[in-house]
Amino acid sequence: MDSQIRSSPVAVSTSLSASGIRWDLSDLEPDADQARRDFDELLARSRDFAERRRGTIGSSGAQGLRELLDELDELTQDVSRVHFYATAREHTDAMDAETTDLATLARDRAADLESLLLFVELEWIALDDAEAEALLEADELEPYRHRLRVAREEKPYVLSEGEEQALNARRPAISAWESLHGRELATLTVEFDGGSGPEPHTIDRLLSYIHHRDRDLRLAALDVLYEALDGLADVQASCYDAVVGDRLSVDRLRGIPDAMWPTNQRNELDGEVVETMIRAIEEHYPLGRRWFVRKAEALGLDRLLLADQYAPLGGDRRVEWSEAVAMVDDSLRDFHPRLGDIFRTCLDRGHVDAEPRPGKVGGAYCNSVSKTVLPYVLMNYTDQLRDVITLAHEFGHAVHGTLSLERQSYRSYHTGLALAEVPSTFAQLLAVERLIDLEEDPATRVMLLADRAEGAMASIFRQTVMARFEMQAYAARGEGKGLTRDRLAEMWIEENERYYADSIELPEGYRLGWAYIPHFIHVRFYTYAYAFAHLIAFSLAARYREDPEQFAPAYLDFLASGASKSPRDLLAPLGVDLRDPQTWAHAFAEFDRCVVAAEEAVAELDAA
Ligand SMILES: [Zn+2]
Repeated sequence: MDSQIRSSPVAVSTSLSASGIRWDLSDLEPDADQARRDFDELLARSRDFAERRRGTIGSSGAQGLRELLDELDELTQDVSRVHFYATAREHTDAMDAETTDLATLARDRAADLESLLLFVELEWIALDDAEAEALLEADELEPYRHRLRVAREEKPYVLSEGEEQALNARRPAISAWESLHGRELATLTVEFDGGSGPEPHTIDRLLSYIHHRDRDLRLAALDVLYEALDGLADVQASCYDAVVGDRLSVDRLRGIPDAMWPTNQRNELDGEVVETMIRAIEEHYPLGRRWFVRKAEALGLDRLLLADQYAPLGGDRRVEWSEAVAMVDDSLRDFHPRLGDIFRTCLDRGHVDAEPRPGKVGGAYCNSVSKTVLPYVLMNYTDQLRDVITLAHEFGHAVHGTLSLERQSYRSYHTGLALAEVPSTFAQLLAVERLIDLEEDPATRVMLLADRAEGAMASIFRQTVMARFEMQAYAARGEGKGLTRDRLAEMWIEENERYYADSIELPEGYRLGWAYIPHFIHVRFYTYAYAFAHLIAFSLAARYREDPEQFAPAYLDFLASGASKSPRDLLAPLGVDLRDPQTWAHAFAEFDRCVVAAEEAVAELDAA
């Protein structure tokens, strides 16, 4: 599932134009009863598959393996369809008893199905190199070749079956630390007066005030947040210490040489490429600082406090759902009619759920279900300009999923996170450019330009600060130092000061800013993928502007190629060479252009 959960900047508004824009899930399943029957049938099919195929991966020849993988591809798509039906209902109707029962069944079944089908990967990895190489050469395996090759990269680090089982058996104990971390955050509520009297506030709701116009409210919300974090920082640090310690111990047993290797492998990026990118980003931290100084002037302040970082500049206006749809349609269609067609078809078939309502999850995501079902998009449309950008972002995922599922096997359609966020960020940049060009109100243009620049800073600079913080944490833990709250606070402040320097004043309470970031617990070094995707999307946007006729068909081919090649090979036809440091310079030129545009618009508005 492609997902980007963003905290919504506004409380739920009274007049919402997207009311009634709800999913029609009938392309997935007619009802819960049929979904239950399908889960039973899938379990039976998977058992039968396992009985027939277990032990044959190395002995059935290229044609036999092809037939096995085709059958598995069908099976996993059916699992994806039924499973997403259960998830989609849970995400939009959490209060319904039938829905929660089905979601519980789906979780149990998913675990059963996974363990039944796991033998395919294990047997494939267990083949010796010569056998595997001979199979990979065969034409029959072309639709699966690249993914099969990538899977074998883990081979040197796989342990004996008994050792793997022992490692698996202590999984629940580690999950308990992860759950505790999440539960502490999810259940934390504090009394806060956001303007309509004191009310219990969750962390997400407190954080949403950083976009508020009222400075006192912004400052007060963050103060209350840090105060609340003080009570749970010891627990959060203990959870993080346990999880990082465990990961490093397992890495040592497996012989994994570098704490970033598992993430880089999943993203199919060389450690060297990632490090070169991160250094280039750090060299450009002054670009962010230049903007913060300019922003302080625009707000009439000597210097920004952390709570002012995302304070709105300029004006804002409401955007009706129908206008948002037209805007995203035009933006995609302008690039290539095929993308506009996919967008319209998804909407017409009821594959978009945009209405905010009780019992529905926050944030936004796109799920590209299978080769026979069009993607489903969930978001919470609150009539804000920012929501138009979210709609474009999610449809960047949807057109990627649709085109790549048309041409690739199911196994080969979905890329690692770093590349998966490229088409969504690119679609978002196209839509923003269009919104800026068409916006007549100068104050609203300023808001859009500032939001674009600050969004890039959040993805590129902030996420890199987080990745560097994690590197410090893994290094310290690897040297046998415990990750206490004070040690984490020191690392956190050090990395943040490298970015902000004296352009933004960090409050004392921000020492605990690491304590509410879930990524650190769930997937190590997850955050750099956002920086990567945003920079690559910037670079692609610049190339598109230079030569739209050449670029658009090559880009469609890139989308349709899915995960059938490495990111390096996928991006090369678009003129992006991941090994060339100039790639990052090119992306930063585009980033700089966005900051300059924002600075100029702010200056014009000040002068007017
Ligand atoms: Zn995304």
